[in-house]
Amino acid sequence: MEALVRQTDKLAAVGRLAAGVAHEINNPLAIVSAYTEDFLERLEEGGTTCFKEGEWKAYLTAVLRQVARCTSIIRKLLDFARPAPGLREWVKINELVQGIVSLMDYTLKKKGIELTLKIEEDLEVYADRLQLEQVLLNLLTNAVEAIEKEGKICIKAIKKGQEIEISVIDTGKGIPPENLEKIFEPFFTTKPVGQGTGLGLSICYGIIQELGGRMVVESSLGQGTTVKVYLPARQRGGNG
Ligand code: ADP
Ligand code: MG
Repeated sequence: MEALVRQTDKLAAVGRLAAGVAHEINNPLAIVSAYTEDFLERLEEGGTTCFKEGEWKAYLTAVLRQVARCTSIIRKLLDFARPAPGLREWVKINELVQGIVSLMDYTLKKKGIELTLKIEEDLEVYADRLQLEQVLLNLLTNAVEAIEKEGKICIKAIKKGQEIEISVIDTGKGIPPENLEKIFEPFFTTKPVGQGTGLGLSICYGIIQELGGRMVVESSLGQGTTVKVYLPARQRGGNG
């Protein structure tokens, strides 16, 4: 079974982002509030004597942990919402992919993943190199994480009309159809706490959107996933 999702509506994405952040911050705040209330109540009732050895410390530690959680969520939000990209330049797709692949080389080997590159010659896009690296790294990481052990990943880049199509194709576990619409939402993750932030694809989406491109995901459960990124190609005789 084949499913397809296209992300085209930036406003909707921003709305979901706000909802996601509100939700994520609400939980730790509720905990901070409950602990503080309880702490004060007991303090008012019996002063410090009603706390057993180390108990007050446990309260404060719990509160601090939740505050740290909020800080981390906000930091990630700021990363995602980061406004204009930095310096744009003509980036060679070939070099970009090679760079990312060498970063991931160890992980790929360790997991027994066979990687194939099919990159057309002379493909270039006008972009902030660091942002493009972030996109590719996120997509490749997702592909690696989708493969339990042994599998294949192919990174393909071709010119298609006025666009460059970069595909990351994996033979991983695939995405259930009901999740396909959610994967670009900030904080949507199916990975265990501490492993997934659910921000990877939403960051990719923001970057690609800003570059005038788009992303398409196709997935078959149990077979694998293809994530395609489309970006405007360098035109012949264009002055960039
Ligand atoms: P994270 O990787 O932190 O969970 P992402 O935004 O990168 O967050 O991805 C969101 C979710 O989309 C993942 O948790 C996973 O369920 C799904 N996903 C993304 N890429 C793939 C892939 N290549 N194969 C299978 N599932 C994927
Ligand atoms: Mg990810």
